Amino acid sequence: MFSLKGKSAIVTGASRGIGLEIAKVLAECGANVAVIATRENPDIAQEIANTYNIRCLSYGCDVSDSEQVNETFKKIIEEFGAVDILVNNAGITRDGLMMRMKDPDFDDVIRINLRSVFVCTRALARHMMGRRQGRIINMASINGIRTQAGQANYAASKAGLIGITKSNAMEFASRGITVNAIAPGFIQTAMTEKLAAETVEKYKAAIPVQDLGKPSDVAYAVAFLASDEARYITGQVLGVDGGLNA
Ligand code: NAP
Repeated sequence: MFSLKGKSAIVTGASRGIGLEIAKVLAECGANVAVIATRENPDIAQEIANTYNIRCLSYGCDVSDSEQVNETFKKIIEEFGAVDILVNNAGITRDGLMMRMKDPDFDDVIRINLRSVFVCTRALARHMMGRRQGRIINMASINGIRTQAGQANYAASKAGLIGITKSNAMEFASRGITVNAIAPGFIQTAMTEKLAAETVEKYKAAIPVQDLGKPSDVAYAVAFLASDEARYITGQVLGVDGGLNA
C-alpha cells in the first residue's frame, strides 16, 4: 500500500459507499481524513480514527453550497494545519427518461455532482497552490463517457466533471497539483442497489471480469493517485470498471 503518512485529506460523500471506503483506505495509508456528508457522522469518524490510529474529523456540509464549503474547509485547514488531498466524491442519481425528467431532477444532479466539484476545488485551490503541492481526485463515472438512456442529467454531470478535471489539470500543473478523475463502472453500493435485478444481471454479463466492483476497488485507485508516486499523472480519467469501457 502507498504511504500517505503525514498527509491530510478531505473526502466528500463519505457517509457510506465508495466515499466511506476511500476515507478508510486513505486512513489505512496513514493520512488524517475529514469526512463530509450532508450530516455530521461522528461515529464514523471515531471508528476510522480508532481503527487506523490517525485523526478523523466529520462535518455536515452541502458540497454544492459555496458558503458552507468555504466555512467547512477553513475549519479543516485550521484543524489539520494543511490539506494535501481532496476527493470530490459526493454524488446522486435522479434517473428518468428525458421526456419525463423534471427540472429539479436535472438541476439537483448537476448541482450536487458537478457544481460541487467547482465549489470544493476552488475553496482549496489557493491553499494547495500556496503549498505548491496537492492531489485532487474527482469521481466521474463510466456513464460520463459511454452512457445509457435515462441518465441525461447524470451523464451530463459526469461528462462535465471530466471537463473540469482536464481544465484544472492544465491550470494547476505548474503549482505541483495533479487533478485526475476516476470513472467507476458498476460498484456495489446503495446507489446501485436501486437498480432492477435484471438490469444488474445484464450488466454483469457485459463486464469482461464478470463481476461487479467493490468500493475498495475504487478506493485503492484513489490511494494511488493521491500518492507521491503518481506525481507525473494529471488530467487523466482512470476507469475502474472491470473492462467495461475497454
Ligand atoms: P452513495 O452510496 O449514494 O453515497 C453518496 C454520498 O454522497 C453519501 O455519503 C451522501 O451523503 C453524499 N452526498 C450526497 N449529496 C450530498 C451533498 N449535497 N453534500 C454532501 N454530501 C452529499 O453513492 P456511491 O455509490 O458511493 O457513489 C459515490 C460516487 O461514485 C458518486 O459520485 C457516484 O456518482 C460515483 N459512482 C458510483 C458508481 C456506483 O456504481 N456506485 C459508479 C460510478 C460512479 P448523505 O449521507 O448526506 O446522503
